[in-house]
Amino acid sequence: MSFRTKASTLRRLIIVLNMKIAVFPGSFDPITIGHVDLVRRALPLFDQIIVAVGVNSTKKYLFPLEQRMEWLLQVFAQDQKVSVDSFQNLTAHYCQRIGARYLLRGLRNASDFDYEKTISQLNHIVGNGIETVFLISQPEYSHISSTIVREIIVGGADATPFIPAEIRIGTLP
Ligand code: ADP
Repeated sequence: MSFRTKASTLRRLIIVLNMKIAVFPGSFDPITIGHVDLVRRALPLFDQIIVAVGVNSTKKYLFPLEQRMEWLLQVFAQDQKVSVDSFQNLTAHYCQRIGARYLLRGLRNASDFDYEKTISQLNHIVGNGIETVFLISQPEYSHISSTIVREIIVGGADATPFIPAEIRIGTLP
């Protein structure tokens, strides 16, 4: 390897090491317009945002992992800085594996805060200094949660107002 090649490889490595990569972890069962708003507002803060579906084998989901990931890919297809992935086990270990030093989470209310505070403190220890960046939900989205959307779908009502326009949730799997 010539000196010039080595220097440019090193420069690229330094750029990659300095990249601000954030993981936005969640179940996204299903993705809502609240999630999308959060990611779009966080885009100026990071070089790359990885929307990562956490797979917990003890948790029951309404929609299969493949379907949830497909929807995420559709919604963020035009966002160059957003990629979609899934992971198992600890979020902090996933971040370390892919070189992400930030977690992105949303806060809708005080109970989100109480829960997120503990998780973020744990992730800071387990993830060797991983910082969680919180964005407060916009008022028009603070009542929206995947839980409520699931209830609407299961109850046979129309969830369209809470779901990104790019996707269609037809009949249940
Ligand atoms: P989890 O199963 O980890 O709660 P969710 O998919 O429900 O995952 O949510 C992922 C993240 O998105 C959480 O930080 C949550 O606070 C945030 N979030 C969910 N809905 C909204 C919303 N309407 N506005 C802002 N943040 C939201």
